[in-house]
Amino acid sequence: MSTAAAPFDVTRVRRDFPILAQQVNGHPLVYLDSAASGQRPNAVLRAVERYETHHHSNVHRGVHALSQAATEAFEGARERARRFLNARSRREIVFVRGTTEGINLVAQALARPRLGPGDEILITGLEHHANIVPWQMVCEQTGCTLKVAPIDRRGELDLDRFLGQLTARTRLVAVAHVSNALGTILPVERIVQAAHSCGALVLLDGAQAVPHTAIDVQALGCDFYAFSGHKLYGPTGIGVLFGREELLEEMPPWQGGGDMIRTVSFEKSTYNDLPWKFEAGTPNISGAVGLAAAMDYLEGLGIEAVAAHEQRLLALATAELSRIPGLQIIGTAAHKAAVLSFTLSGCHPHDLGTILDSEGVAIRTGHHCAMPVMTFFDIPATARASFGCYNTEADVYALVAALGKAREVFG
Ligand code: PLP
Repeated sequence: MSTAAAPFDVTRVRRDFPILAQQVNGHPLVYLDSAASGQRPNAVLRAVERYETHHHSNVHRGVHALSQAATEAFEGARERARRFLNARSRREIVFVRGTTEGINLVAQALARPRLGPGDEILITGLEHHANIVPWQMVCEQTGCTLKVAPIDRRGELDLDRFLGQLTARTRLVAVAHVSNALGTILPVERIVQAAHSCGALVLLDGAQAVPHTAIDVQALGCDFYAFSGHKLYGPTGIGVLFGREELLEEMPPWQGGGDMIRTVSFEKSTYNDLPWKFEAGTPNISGAVGLAAAMDYLEGLGIEAVAAHEQRLLALATAELSRIPGLQIIGTAAHKAAVLSFTLSGCHPHDLGTILDSEGVAIRTGHHCAMPVMTFFDIPATARASFGCYNTEADVYALVAALGKAREVFG
């Protein structure tokens, strides 16, 4: 009996995503914007619909059947997320709105109470604004200092300089697992190990990594890992912050309200156990249910198989786009996820995006919430094509053809 994995059947995968069947501006939709937000498969749409139709009520403390069903669904999703990340315990899985909220939680509940003048937070030059601004706010609040490890012209982290900037003053290292603007995959195992040897804690921004890589937080050894459901073919408004239990236990809550308390009196309130201590107010229950379905779906396809498929598309697109006169690829790291940023001379990325859209090709244009990356490359913006499990070689050729049209317009 053969043990070879079945070939990745992208035609079948596409049938799972009803949104892809539509025409845009008279052309079949070519969706190349999954780094901004992935589309949802039927499995996710149906799980959310089933929950909303049959099981919805508020979670926790309800004695009636629907509340218990909703609680079961919500806490079941937490267990699903624990397995997805290979965390030790459900107590380490905090539901948040997304990566941004997860990072802000760590900034306000861990860094703000602990850091002061003389302490340093180390990030890199390729971070998304979500992994820059929360730390700048902490610096303003506490007097600690933000350090930035530089990248090189390929969009790779300068690891030597990063290691040189790690000192006994570094209290926290916060880096992207994968860059959204450049596609660079960072050497996170090395970063975690070096940071820990200096006594610093590590947060990984996994927003762009989770759709392309199986994540094992125990193997990575990181202290925190944050990601968003909507980049993972799940709903918007839901994400996960993994935190090591010992750290979460020591951290004060960051938002107060219902569900995060054990007792409340006007004199003093006491707080709930993990992870609910960090989940004030009614959570996004259907979002969690949809996220769990997205995890089932992606693991059902096989994350490695998806990643290999996307890497083939990335290689094809890189080769094809490199041949286009005046086109420059921004971000040429040796290890990249399925993100291709580029500029075309004589054509502002926004105009390019508009022309491509008129051909049914959806890409993202702008600074991609990574203004310092644009400043580093001395450009105002890039056009960015990003690939997901449902993209095909035909999508790559549609992009190339649409870029040909843009070149005709802009000469
Ligand atoms: N970090 C990275 C690397 C991202 O790509 C994004 C979104 O594009 C974020 C953080 C923020 O994610 P969200 O807006 O879902 O909170």
